[in-house]
Amino acid sequence: MQTTSQANARPYASIIVPVFNEEATLAALFARLYPVLDALQLPYECIFVDDGSRDRSVALLRAQQQARPLETRVIIFQRNFGQHAAILAGFERAAGEVIITLDADLQNPPEEIPRLIEAARAGHDYVGTIRRGRQDHWARRWFSRAINSMRDRTTQIRITDQGCMLRAYSRAVIDAVNACEEVNTFIPALAYLFARDPTEIEVAHEARHAGSSKYSLYKLIRLNFDLMTGFTVVPLQLFSMLGMTISLLSGLLVLWLAARRLFLGPEAEGVFTLFGIVFFLVGLALFGIGLIGEYVGRIYEQVRGRPRYLIAAVLEGDAPRAIGHEREAGVPLDADRSGARETSRV
Ligand code: UDP
Ligand code: MG
Repeated sequence: MQTTSQANARPYASIIVPVFNEEATLAALFARLYPVLDALQLPYECIFVDDGSRDRSVALLRAQQQARPLETRVIIFQRNFGQHAAILAGFERAAGEVIITLDADLQNPPEEIPRLIEAARAGHDYVGTIRRGRQDHWARRWFSRAINSMRDRTTQIRITDQGCMLRAYSRAVIDAVNACEEVNTFIPALAYLFARDPTEIEVAHEARHAGSSKYSLYKLIRLNFDLMTGFTVVPLQLFSMLGMTISLLSGLLVLWLAARRLFLGPEAEGVFTLFGIVFFLVGLALFGIGLIGEYVGRIYEQVRGRPRYLIAAVLEGDAPRAIGHEREAGVPLDADRSGARETSRV
């Protein structure tokens, strides 16, 4: 247990944990996370953001907040807005000098946090991580490798293992992230843009403690489109280059076919080859339209300017006050568009 003076001081470290249907892992997470942080002898806060869980996660978070009120804050979303929106909500309210993101499923061991803090204290304003011996399905690992290398070739972002969320950021980097109004984003990449002295360390990786991944294939693909469209327009440029190349080649083909028609007469062979080529090109064109759609859709979401997330309740301090979640009369929902900085501490 921390001394009161430590806990009341402005936190040095803020740990942000997004939680979505994690009732099976939370007890183990609390049991490992808090002792690690207590041992650091630094003031800290843990901010858990419940991303619309439908299981007992909220009840478990509430009990933990009551057990460790000085170091624990809980933000409860109105419904599921996604892991990155949850982390952004945590960033908006984090008070620490070093801000650390951690998954709730214990795939990234909390025991690595002191090493992240050590690197931050050495002056690095962005401490990335590389998962040592990654414990995920081979298809996930293959997919990650493909996306990592695509991102590496098409953006200025140089991170080895973008998918690992156990990372530390300085206050200055998080202030810059908080100033961004992006609806769809990919936090490790966004924060990297603002880092002056980034570094990477290797961290252990474990199999998910319990439950299953909260990312369906669909959600995973959407997230990776957020990464690609959010940080580069190279895919669009590649498509225009490809379009130009194909037009040029088909121009040459027309000339070739015209010459054959003149010198050899009409020919009707190769009709299935033609079908093959046409189907391929139609597929390519549809992919191109879809790709433009990914960008246009995001522009549309951005200009509509709807809130990135809606907060139903915030539990903090030793006399926690619930906003809305229990629908207390007259208390408005806390909508956050881009980072309205209300800090309704109790
Ligand atoms: N998560 C979230 N909202 C979502 C999906 C996931 O807050 O819509 C949280 C989840 O509870 C976990 C973290 O994000 O703490 C990473 O999710 P998960 O471990 O399922 O992803 P994976 O490790 O399979 O990439
Ligand atoms: Mg996980």
